[in-house]
Amino acid sequence: MSNPTKPQVAFYWCASCGGCEEAVVDLADGVLAVVDAVDIIFWPVALDFKRSDVEARPDGSIAVAFVNGAVRTSEQEEMAHLMRRKAQVLIAFGACSHLGGIPGLANLWDRKTIFRGSYSDPPSVVNPEGTLPQESWQEDGRMTTLPAFRDTVRTLDQVVEVDYYIPGCPPTPKLLMDAVQAILTGALPPRGSVLAPDIALCDQCHLKATKPDRLLLTSFKRPHQVLIDPETCLLAQGLLCLGPATRAGCEALCPSGNMPCSGCFGPTSRVHDVGAKLISAVGSAFDASSPDAIEAVLSTIPDPVGTFYRYSLPASRLRRKVSQAAPAEAAQ
Ligand code: SF4
Ligand code: SF4
Repeated sequence: MSNPTKPQVAFYWCASCGGCEEAVVDLADGVLAVVDAVDIIFWPVALDFKRSDVEARPDGSIAVAFVNGAVRTSEQEEMAHLMRRKAQVLIAFGACSHLGGIPGLANLWDRKTIFRGSYSDPPSVVNPEGTLPQESWQEDGRMTTLPAFRDTVRTLDQVVEVDYYIPGCPPTPKLLMDAVQAILTGALPPRGSVLAPDIALCDQCHLKATKPDRLLLTSFKRPHQVLIDPETCLLAQGLLCLGPATRAGCEALCPSGNMPCSGCFGPTSRVHDVGAKLISAVGSAFDASSPDAIEAVLSTIPDPVGTFYRYSLPASRLRRKVSQAAPAEAAQ
């Protein structure tokens, strides 16, 4: 039963792994304070409210809607518009909603190739007729429908206007709690802000004192290939740590666990294209000047797009690989 005296809050989950929903549950004791302070009126992963319940509410009656996940299907697009209409404040919650996230790497392919790779070509699938998902199917007089699968993965703000962004894959419980406090006390920064410190991750890293001013690397190694020294900057050890060009806010969780930062908090406000900035930051650490020497260092980075645009391809200037087969569709 809804309580009209408390701010009403909604959560919705688009194309994502579910980790952002876990982050809400991970508030642990804090979740009780949140539940006490607000009235959660829509949270499909946890509460049995339906889309029609939200549709029946007056426009603008929800104080805050947190939407995680990128937008891939027509249903997610409809829900993004519904949340925008009903909420006073719409928050893109987590890396997928903020920048496209891991699902956004699918923009390296088009829908046809993805369907072929998932439904007809895999060695574990038997599908001699090459049947693919249909948006509608009629049988025995009954029509079944599925959401349309768009050709391009989009960030939430490529579909509707977004008021704030909470970064991270997933956002940390502290960041979420800080955001909820800011919302409840009306202490929000200017609209459009990312609700995390606007400094580079290295500034929050316990290893920053060991990061040399000038690095001279001739190769990059993957974490399983070396015995990591936990007291020395990971980049200085030749591990591809993206801390120099990633926004702070997670308190350098990954380097604290001997893992290089992979950039899930996205860029600071001064960066226009995350991948380009990361490439430039890492490139300045190369000890190579001839094309052959540069190529030799680059060859130790096995998946450049997946490394430098891991969370941000849809939000980047590249956005997607152009589909030769369906250029008009690729614009969707
Ligand atoms: S490069 Fe990585 S390990 Fe080194 S100081 Fe920055 S965040 Fe820490
Ligand atoms: S260290 Fe980097 S990858 Fe790890 S949580 Fe923080 S921003 Fe994300």
